[in-house]
Amino acid sequence: MKIPVSRPLIGRLESIYVNKALQEGAISGLYGDFIGRFEDEFADFCGVDYAVSCSSGTAALHLSLLAAGVLPGDEVLVSTLTNMATIFAILYIGARPIPVDIEANSLGIDPQYLEGKINSKTTAIMVVHLFGHPANMNKVIEIANKHKLLVIEDCAEAHGAEVSRVKVGGLGSAGAFSFFANKIISTGEGGMVTTNSLEIAKKARSLRSLAFGDAEKFMHVDVGYNYRMTNIQAAIGCGQMAMVEELISRRREVAEYYNSRFESYRDVLLLPSEANWAKNVIWMYHVCLSGSMRGKRTLVRDMLLKEGVETRDGFIPFNMQKIFIESGLVTIEQCPVANTFAFDSFYLPTGPDISKNEMEFVADRLLNILIQLR
Ligand SMILES: *Cc1c(COP(=O)(O)O)cnc(C)c1O
Repeated sequence: MKIPVSRPLIGRLESIYVNKALQEGAISGLYGDFIGRFEDEFADFCGVDYAVSCSSGTAALHLSLLAAGVLPGDEVLVSTLTNMATIFAILYIGARPIPVDIEANSLGIDPQYLEGKINSKTTAIMVVHLFGHPANMNKVIEIANKHKLLVIEDCAEAHGAEVSRVKVGGLGSAGAFSFFANKIISTGEGGMVTTNSLEIAKKARSLRSLAFGDAEKFMHVDVGYNYRMTNIQAAIGCGQMAMVEELISRRREVAEYYNSRFESYRDVLLLPSEANWAKNVIWMYHVCLSGSMRGKRTLVRDMLLKEGVETRDGFIPFNMQKIFIESGLVTIEQCPVANTFAFDSFYLPTGPDISKNEMEFVADRLLNILIQLR
């Protein structure tokens, strides 16, 4: 048996749409019907007024910060446990990312540390809805409103996740999604900025395509970027949108199954959670070794791999990244809760197409290993 951590599930519609785009010669990011259609369908899905497609999740993060008006020299409070693309996007602006520790359950930014870090340079809070669980937005937004800060959501892992029954992507000033191959839906590479602000949508749309002029196309109105999604990628996206709800419920079923198997091992294995105000879309079934299993991640992952079960390490937090410690941007001690996940967390095969047999196999093998090693 060989079970990958995830594989994209590509339906029949995707090839039909891609062929249509190819036959029409609408292959770039400026022409073709699928781009606008994908944006409209994605905006509807998220319950937001505007969606602006782009070339990657990282580009979407950069565009949302630019369009929301974060400036060089600003301080941005950001959840420390994330894909470093979140941090890089803040650095592209010339702004300063300030690491904020996480809540152990949601794995999102911990609101209790925000106010202590706000000063006259702070202009934005960047939350990350990690592994499909939304950040504690009600508290974040309360604090942001009180201090007149922007809120940017990194939704790269959380398509369809909900806070108090409202989907992520429109909870703050702007949201950024990724459509990389292993995300909830994929276009190969791709991203989307979501917002309820016409001004932010217009700015993101302009900047993603070289900020061409309106009356005089080649009289540019700003320093723009080429962050366009191609019509071929959008064609794949339209195909994926037809099954997005199904893809999410499949992932939730996988988590339910694993939870039921690992329930009585919580003393050595922290499991994904779901706050009572949240819907977790389970981007990946992320676990963390604890108690007597601490420090045994490499061993556990190697033993699983020998059985054919592929896994991945969890993220190393921003405050533990060597390059940023050396440059004086962070110190290791800043975020003790996030640090506990750095070298003991990993995720299990969570693809939407994993079979009952495969799930059983993964759970059996991991349980055996826990019993052997604990
Ligand atoms: C995947 C991911 C990104 C980056 O998206 P790309 O499409 O790979 O550029 C950013 N943030 C988080 C949290 C991610 O998981």
